[in-house]
Amino acid sequence: MSNLFEHSTIEVLIAAKLDGTITLEELLKHGNYGLGTFTGLDGEVIILDNDVYQVDQTGTVNHITDMSTTLPFASVHTPSINEQPLKLAKADFTLLNQAFATEKNLKNVFAAIKLHGTFNAVKVRVAPKQEKPYPSLLAVTKNQPIFDTKDVTGTIIGYYAPELFGNVTAAGWHLHFLSDDHQFGGHLLSFVGTDLEGSFEVFDGLEQHFPISDPEFRNHEIDLTTLKAAIEESEGFQD
Ligand SMILES: [Zn+2]
Repeated sequence: MSNLFEHSTIEVLIAAKLDGTITLEELLKHGNYGLGTFTGLDGEVIILDNDVYQVDQTGTVNHITDMSTTLPFASVHTPSINEQPLKLAKADFTLLNQAFATEKNLKNVFAAIKLHGTFNAVKVRVAPKQEKPYPSLLAVTKNQPIFDTKDVTGTIIGYYAPELFGNVTAAGWHLHFLSDDHQFGGHLLSFVGTDLEGSFEVFDGLEQHFPISDPEFRNHEIDLTTLKAAIEESEGFQD
């Protein structure tokens, strides 16, 4: 059994419901690797072996140790016996979307990937912190800080979600990056890496957790006619 744990849905971010609905303390009970964002879309969260990092809108990486910090959306997992070692001589989004996705037969499954090594080029975005009344994720990402760097050693962590679930999470790859020296990171828009090593696993279960005590979550209207396109536009990569 290998589970991906998802707290809330990415739809809540599109619907501008950006208040945190789970604490880090609770989230880490469900996985020690993962990604997400904090209340008000306050940066990009990367969780590596229970260490929680936030890249804020200035590009600064902060080590978060206050376990009462809350997140409106997050995905985590604990590596299981299904995890396989992975080596990629050269990788970018094109490889992950095409040859890799075909070889691993990802079409209808959720999967996790971790890749460490030296990256020739990395481009990330960082969601800037919002104040109430919150705008939607889509509006925020139209004006988001973008950072890029070259020749950086670091880790990619993230997930693949099947098209079928594209209304509740970002279909395809959703990857975050953190450099080893903790000077650079964010939500991955494009990358080129060589001699990468890491791991990969396909999940046979999805634990979808809902913030049922949040009245906004319970009461808000979901616009299904525009949802999928809004998720793709706000969470997509660039190459
Ligand atoms: Zn992200």
